[in-house]
Amino acid sequence: MEFSERTIKVIIDDAKCEGCTTYACVEACKTYSRGILVLKDGKPAVEGTPEELARKGTECFACEYECWFRGNSAITIEVPIEGLADYRKKHGTE
Ligand code: SF4
Repeated sequence: MEFSERTIKVIIDDAKCEGCTTYACVEACKTYSRGILVLKDGKPAVEGTPEELARKGTECFACEYECWFRGNSAITIEVPIEGLADYRKKHGTE
């Protein structure tokens, strides 16, 4: 599943959540952000409209970090940076 905040996209490969015992992502969201990630049927989920999620999300990356260390590395956060592709091409760092 995936959802967007104001400038980022959070992608959760929830097949990897099978067997997770910590649900560290949900705990991290509640502790460090506004708790937009909730547990639903044993997997992380979000509730609310895309507009609400964009408004409430703090783009803190706590879910991704905690899932790396205490979960099953199921979360990827995409952060588009305008002009980065051109910059990398120019400086040969693609
Ligand atoms: S911590 Fe990671 S593996 Fe565990 S439920 Fe959350 S996203 Fe899934």
